[in-house]
Amino acid sequence: MNEAIRYCKKCGCELMSTNKHKLCDSCRRKRAENIRNGLLGAGGTALSFLLIVVTNGKHGGGGNKA
Ligand SMILES: [Zn+2]
Repeated sequence: MNEAIRYCKKCGCELMSTNKHKLCDSCRRKRAENIRNGLLGAGGTALSFLLIVVTNGKHGGGGNKA
C-alpha cells in the first residue's frame, strides 16, 4: 500500500512493483549485454595474450639441458 512508484534510473520509465532493481527490464538487459561484451572483450584479449605466451614458450622452450 505504501509502495511508491519507482522509475528506471536510466530511461525513467515506470518500474513494476515487483521489480527489485533500479533499472527497468530493457535497461537491465542492455547493461547485462554491455557487461558480457566487456567480459568477452577482456577475456578475448587475455586469451590471445595467453596463446602468444604459450606459443612463444613452446617455440623458445628448453630441452637444451642435456
Ligand atoms: Zn529503463
